[in-house]
Amino acid sequence: MASRSHVHEFPLSHGGRRIPAIGMGTAASLPITKQPFLHAIECGYRHFDTASLYESEQPLGEAIAEALSLGLINSREELFITSKLWSTDSHHHLVLPAIQKTLSNLKLEYVDLYLIHCPFSITPGKYEYPPNQEDVLEMDYKGVWTAMEECHKLGLAKSIGVSNFTCKKLEDLLLVATIPPAINQVELNPVWQQHKLREYCKSKNILLEAFSPLGSCGSQWGTNKIVGCNVIGEIAKAKGKSVAQVCLRWVYEQGVVVIVKSFNDERMKENLDIFDWNLSEEELKKIADIPQSRNFIIHVISEIGPFKSLNDLWDGEI
Ligand code: NDP
Repeated sequence: MASRSHVHEFPLSHGGRRIPAIGMGTAASLPITKQPFLHAIECGYRHFDTASLYESEQPLGEAIAEALSLGLINSREELFITSKLWSTDSHHHLVLPAIQKTLSNLKLEYVDLYLIHCPFSITPGKYEYPPNQEDVLEMDYKGVWTAMEECHKLGLAKSIGVSNFTCKKLEDLLLVATIPPAINQVELNPVWQQHKLREYCKSKNILLEAFSPLGSCGSQWGTNKIVGCNVIGEIAKAKGKSVAQVCLRWVYEQGVVVIVKSFNDERMKENLDIFDWNLSEEELKKIADIPQSRNFIIHVISEIGPFKSLNDLWDGEI
């Protein structure tokens, strides 16, 4: 096994494997090129979070191939690559072809982690996002998860998991799972701390991953609520750290994997620099007291679909 000895990691529940504590996000406005990923590998990133929906698999695959040929890494095993099954393919018979397409885009034999992107399905063939409301369907958990388990058994995904699942949806999934999900990737940051979900996942040995740890600030779908939060700003100023670093460090100290996206060379390095300092008890207490609100929007609420309200989608976790 190739070494990631310099990388901070958390244990996964599947087969004694480990996951780097920080990963680079790859969701961005198109077009996405290989350049930021190559630079990220040079900076020391070893964990990348892609998805068929983001159209970042192909450029990431090109960057991995180039990093290997340039000797930036010695072997593919030094990397931890996650991709996700989009809802259009969240149908029993479409899961295997979807992961095969993902692997072909990435030019890899396997992904380290394959996630069900969202807890619903979309009519096969309808790839546009946001989807037409008549195309949003209830997901057949048993059919889809059995196919995910098959991907794992075939060695195409070393671990499998989910994303955007609530406690209730995890409970439903666990009823039909032979292999429990190793990960649940969700919105988690100082402004949406997810205490209930964290307790539940801990009790089921499911590791949480935090997406949008900075609230996706600066992107067309993001919020400045997190980076503009006074409490975090004051802590950052007092410690001589950036607001982003305080947010990322906070996630790490909660025992949660953090996925952050930056395609800017300086911010990429800044975001990795969170491991040799810590937040004090008093600072953690101040962050714990920040008023909470969910910010990530999934466009699937409608009278005709499976989720009539935000409450339905998030099972009251709002
Ligand atoms: P983030 O919270 O990571 O924020 C990204 C934004 O913050 C970018 O605009 C980036 O700009 C900026 N930024 C990054 N670092 C800094 C810094 N140090 N200082 C100031 N600004 C900074 O949002 P994302 O929504 O991108 O979440 C991260 C990843 O999580 C995604 O890329 C994706 O891989 C995953 N994700 C998964 C979802 C799911 O449903 N499973 C949903 C949403 C995201 P710049 O690039 O210019 O630095």
